[in-house]
Amino acid sequence: MRMPAADAQRAPKHIDLAILGGGCAGLSLARELAKSQTLGSILVIEPRQTYQDDRSWCFWANDSQALSPWLGHSWPRWSFGKIDAQQQHRACDDYPYRYVRSIDFYRACLAAIKACPAIDLKLGQAVSELTALQSGWQITTNDDTYIAQQVLDTRPPPQTQLDQSTLQQCFLGAEIKLRRRTEIDTETVELMTDMRLVDGEFCFTYVLPFAPDHLLVEVTFFAKYPPTRLSLQNQLNQLLATRGWSDAEILRTEFAELPMGMPLMMNAKQKQPMLAGMRGGALRPSSGYGFLRIQNWAQRCAKQYIADGTLVGQTTSGFWIQKMDLIFLNVLQHEPARAAEIFDTLLSKTKPARLIRFMNDQATLSDCLQIVACLPKWPFLRALLRFLPTLLARSD
Ligand SMILES: Cc1cc2nc3c(=O)[nH]c(=O)nc-3n(C[C@H](O)[C@H](O)[C@H](O)COP(=O)(O)OP(=O)(O)OC[C@H]3O[C@@H](n4cnc5c(N)ncnc54)[C@H](O)[C@@H]3O)c2cc1C
Repeated sequence: MRMPAADAQRAPKHIDLAILGGGCAGLSLARELAKSQTLGSILVIEPRQTYQDDRSWCFWANDSQALSPWLGHSWPRWSFGKIDAQQQHRACDDYPYRYVRSIDFYRACLAAIKACPAIDLKLGQAVSELTALQSGWQITTNDDTYIAQQVLDTRPPPQTQLDQSTLQQCFLGAEIKLRRRTEIDTETVELMTDMRLVDGEFCFTYVLPFAPDHLLVEVTFFAKYPPTRLSLQNQLNQLLATRGWSDAEILRTEFAELPMGMPLMMNAKQKQPMLAGMRGGALRPSSGYGFLRIQNWAQRCAKQYIADGTLVGQTTSGFWIQKMDLIFLNVLQHEPARAAEIFDTLLSKTKPARLIRFMNDQATLSDCLQIVACLPKWPFLRALLRFLPTLLARSD
């Protein structure tokens, strides 16, 4: 039977794989898949109409991690310290602190997708409904309906899930151009300086010096009750004033509220799409870092999809690292007044290479034991007692 033209237009489009969300995780996977010549049909669904330079991705990485097309800057050293105390410096020659400007990353991914006829990126479409079918999934967007054999969901987690996080990492940053050059050391990132309590919540400064007159300056909170955007703005203004940078030209701003210790919501009784990115637990609970994990996952997932047509879920930390992170967060949640001392001790007493392995999910047992040994005992013992029942129950 022939369908009338209008109905034919409304008939769902069939595809092999739908990637929901074209942010860091969705685009990373699409870019990796675009390297293959033998793909079925792949659709990336993204509400944005255009991509902006909306974030800075930083991490420690050596040269062998194939990130060179987007690498914007790297720094050999980092500094840290409590407010009103002398800043300390550390360095790790093999693993500099690296920076990726998000717009460079987005453009590189968009170019790879454009060059691959099997992958279609639908901008301006938001998924409103995802329904499990006996075989595959029905996806409804504001503009269209699709039937996909497989779905990878990288949309932001729902608010109910975000609300269950132990803490929020909340920050506001401004990329600024100074009217005059400063004496600032352009070889050193201010990783966690001015560490202090503000209204009972732990707060610190983060500065990426691109040039003597060009910086990214951020105020960051690890908080149970994150400050409002206005209060963050006031903190940032105060920081710029203290440093003598109030008259700088603001090139752009970036803002985030990242979950720290967000439980994953798995329902074994229901068919679930594969999850990745922040929704799949990509962010390290104790730090909020997720970029490298997403890149590693995207490479593994693309390799497997190209080989046998199946997907791999987001890589998270190993069992013991997860538990260590959750205890660490429990201390920060219940004893924020000790956070500055704890981070100061961790950063000053842990060897740089060990700290980086720990941050990059490559810690050995000896690294974990050394880190535990350098931290103050009582806050962690109290956290362990408070946390024991959940610690044994939670595995996400
Ligand atoms: C400002 C900022 C700075 C950060 N800095 C660092 C850093 O220095 N180092 C680090 O390791 N990590 C950092 N992170 C954390 C993490 O790496 C990023 O959040 C990363 O973008 C997470 O990737 P994602 O794909 O999960 O989420 P996103 O990149 O946010 O992608 C999710 C996508 O889903 C789309 N979407 C939303 N609703 C729908 C819908 N209904 N249907 C379809 N799509 C939808 C969104 O538009 C978005 O494109 C930072 C995060 C932020 C926000």
